[in-house]
Amino acid sequence: MLKLMIVVPCYNEQQVLRETTARLTAMLDRVIAAKRVDVARILYVDDGSRDHTWDLITELSNTFACVEGLKLAHNVGHQQALWAGLEYAATHADAIVSIDADLQDDVEAIPQMIEHYHQGIDVVFGVRRERKKDTFFKRHTAQAFYRLMQAMGGQVVYNHADYRLMSRRALQALMTFPERNLFLRGMVASLGFPTAIVLYDRHERFAGESKYPLRKMLGFAIDGITSFSVRPLQCITYLGLLFIVIALAAIVYGLLSYAEGKAIPGWTSLLVSVWFIGGAILLACGIIGEYVGKIYKEVKRRPRYFIEQTTKLK
Ligand code: UDP
Ligand code: MG
Repeated sequence: MLKLMIVVPCYNEQQVLRETTARLTAMLDRVIAAKRVDVARILYVDDGSRDHTWDLITELSNTFACVEGLKLAHNVGHQQALWAGLEYAATHADAIVSIDADLQDDVEAIPQMIEHYHQGIDVVFGVRRERKKDTFFKRHTAQAFYRLMQAMGGQVVYNHADYRLMSRRALQALMTFPERNLFLRGMVASLGFPTAIVLYDRHERFAGESKYPLRKMLGFAIDGITSFSVRPLQCITYLGLLFIVIALAAIVYGLLSYAEGKAIPGWTSLLVSVWFIGGAILLACGIIGEYVGKIYKEVKRRPRYFIEQTTKLK
């Protein structure tokens, strides 16, 4: 007996939801007919959309028995919205699959994920094969991000976003994480249950535009690193040590030049070092500030989201 729930965060996705529902239900009908899944449901989490997303979800929920909706009171961002859906699914399904609304992730990878689940795997990561469909810019910034994450000691699966299957036990483990700064792909990778990978081709967005502009992407990258690793803080310490060594060398050099009588009043080097050190100090303060900001957010323990409305959820 397998009760599957597909969790889909949606922010201003009125252009894609009909097609998403059509493709997901077609795929689910097939796995149900093949007896790989017994009950399947789709949970749309409306992340405070400003268009007609919620009306559409209500309509779809009336038309399709398997479609349900959860409307958050305001926009809390992709990660928190997904969490809202997962929190509900953790008590209502044996396994969940999280997928974006825009059909960029190939729904045909889901049957393969389910096969892994039947073999006792708790977490199946959807990993995209190549990024040919992404813009040059997105492809390279994303790759740089994965490298940086790895260098900083964060746990990430290369080219895996938030398209994955999780068993109830993995999901319930995830739900015990109390932090408010969510970087789900890193948190899931750190759970430690048996994992597997399913490769798929990433398509272009079916319709509408990306809800992740550069500003959000940068914020997400910084969140990813600072919520997983204290290595940036260690780097500051090493940088400080390096500067002390450079300063000592400069003193020795200065004294030697003086002794040789060729100390020139060079303001250039002075100017350069003032700027350099100023920059380094600001950067160091900024990194520390990131962590302090995180601690501030965590200690407030604010609720993650509010549910405004639901369709047929019990
Ligand atoms: N999304 C969300 N809240 C937000 C931004 C995005 O729930 O504040 C959802 C969005 O509807 C989509 C998924 O997160 O289902 C990924 O967003 P998008 O496809 O725009 O990101 P990209 O693929 O461009 O990185
Ligand atoms: Mg997308």
